[in-house]
Amino acid sequence: MSKQTTDTFWTETLYSAYGQRFRVDEVLFEEKSEHQHLLIFRNEQFGRVLALDGIVQTTERDEFIYHEMLTHVPLIAHGSARRVLIIGGGDGGILREVCRHSTVEHVTQVEIDQSVIDLAKTWFPGHSDGAYDDARANIVIGDGFDFVQTTQDRFDVIISDSTDPLGPGEVLFSKDFYAGCQRSLNPGGLLVTQNGVPFMQPGELSNTAARLSKLFRDRRFYTAAVPTYIGGVMTFAWASDNPDLAQVDIDTLTRRWLSQHIQSRYYTPELHQAAFALPRYLLDMLQTGYPAACD
Ligand code: SAM
Repeated sequence: MSKQTTDTFWTETLYSAYGQRFRVDEVLFEEKSEHQHLLIFRNEQFGRVLALDGIVQTTERDEFIYHEMLTHVPLIAHGSARRVLIIGGGDGGILREVCRHSTVEHVTQVEIDQSVIDLAKTWFPGHSDGAYDDARANIVIGDGFDFVQTTQDRFDVIISDSTDPLGPGEVLFSKDFYAGCQRSLNPGGLLVTQNGVPFMQPGELSNTAARLSKLFRDRRFYTAAVPTYIGGVMTFAWASDNPDLAQVDIDTLTRRWLSQHIQSRYYTPELHQAAFALPRYLLDMLQTGYPAACD
């Protein structure tokens, strides 16, 4: 059992001075893969929980919030995305939500750790919900950083569903990764990324803002509150060379959303628009570059 686990509780180690703990009702799986430490356990409040290197990645109870907002906001804003790239996303939640869009013709997912996919299929079948067998899905086991530097494919929307900027996920927050994504986008394409909880990880927000601003014409953030990503709202980074994508009116968003006939549990067109309204402390953080953004 990993060091964070006592007889009955597992404590997340993302932050040294603050954290959440889960009662471990049953350990389902634990292993050190080539890339990271994998732990899956059952908790009465959140169902099954996946932790990588001591950090909560996803839970059965609240995964819908994150996966719906990281998928439907870019796809509905784009309006005609045929080819989608997912970086990371081994649990399959993003792939499931992308495949619910009948207009998507092809989706490539680049995941560094086959173990995460295999475990998610076994222990979190609801996350992928069969999407790994979707004829449109092309699964690549590899480093997403390398993929976007070299692929000859082009995509309309790129979704980076990575771990935090630690270990294998760190490169997915670098300027060179964002530049690789930009080269891999079709004209007018859109990149969105999970970008942490800025109240707890302010540097992640300002660093991403500084790096994206040097590459893309339009860079902004939107938010959602995910219970197990503790410390306040989490942000999603948005980057495109087509500023119009962020200005789509509510009637168009609604029409596009209704045309997909997707039953959501969190996403609505109204929330899509509202999610880009940031609280003052985040606007100030972006204004002042707290802490000094590094390259
Ligand atoms: N929703 C979670 C969050 O916000 O923290 C992330 C979920 S998903 C489990 C994160 C995935 O990113 C993992 O499957 C991990 O193996 C993968 N990953 C980490 N670094 C990667 C890299 N450089 N290339 C591709 N996948 C990577």
